[in-house]
Amino acid sequence: MKCSKCSRKAIGVFQQKGYCSEHFKQAFEDFVFNFMDEKKLISSSRVAVAVSGGKDSTSVLNVVMKYMDKKGLGKPKALSVDEGIKGYRKETIGNVRDFCDKNNIELKVVSYREEFGFSLDEFLEEFNTHPCTVCGILRRYLLNKLARDYDVLVTGHNLDDESQSVLMNLVNADLGLLARQGFRPGLLYSDKFTKRIKPFYLVKEKEVMVYSLVCDLGAPLGSCPNAHLAFRNPVRDLINEREGKEPGVKRNIVEFFLSLKGDLVGMVEDDVLQECGRCGEPTSGNVCKACLIRESWEKGEQLF
Ligand SMILES: [Zn+2]
Ligand SMILES: [Zn+2]
Repeated sequence: MKCSKCSRKAIGVFQQKGYCSEHFKQAFEDFVFNFMDEKKLISSSRVAVAVSGGKDSTSVLNVVMKYMDKKGLGKPKALSVDEGIKGYRKETIGNVRDFCDKNNIELKVVSYREEFGFSLDEFLEEFNTHPCTVCGILRRYLLNKLARDYDVLVTGHNLDDESQSVLMNLVNADLGLLARQGFRPGLLYSDKFTKRIKPFYLVKEKEVMVYSLVCDLGAPLGSCPNAHLAFRNPVRDLINEREGKEPGVKRNIVEFFLSLKGDLVGMVEDDVLQECGRCGEPTSGNVCKACLIRESWEKGEQLF
């Protein structure tokens, strides 16, 4: 296959067209820049990017940095959470540090150990619980706290992630979670929750992978060692199989969801937020889940 822009050999496919490495990079960035413009995702300089150091988040940091530079908005700030996953997170955070040093980006790293008193590995040795549940709650909690002074928190979620989540929420008949999905997810417009945005919303995981290689971002391509336990694996396999036979299935799922989102939001009730009695962070109950997890660790009994 040849590049659709020049006579060089195509090294990857983006939105159904083949490109050489130079034109792949250009097509990818043009597409994401247009998406950000069209959806008005970034309009101030107070932008934080959640970076784990994997290919998705390092790529989104790279694209957002270029976008903000083009718009004269300065530099984003990078935020990383070190869960304490042996043989995995050290390498990815090392990669974030290198990237931020090279590009003059300020980086803040917080760890579960400092914030909660345990690493994820230690917690999982003590309690028989699903790693993604605990991790999801604690990561979200820390990122929300760290991003408080910013207008938006960028995440590297892509089209694969979103189409899987739509299907999972349908399978679980979880209207509340479904209505909260989107490139600007959530219903809660409290100043205690920094708005999240997903610039890679319509970009496939494979396309992000090629972009990270073409840009030589050095991001490790491996995934979290707990990933094989994720609830979404069978859903991912199903969607990938359909996409292989009928390219466009992922996009169809997400476009279908977007066409319903407005109505869905009207069908679910927003949580009434209050302050957690222990830590003061926003929660819909009396005590937030992160505090219940912390207390479980301290008391040695499962309270969440
Ligand atoms: Zn080319
Ligand atoms: Zn709390």
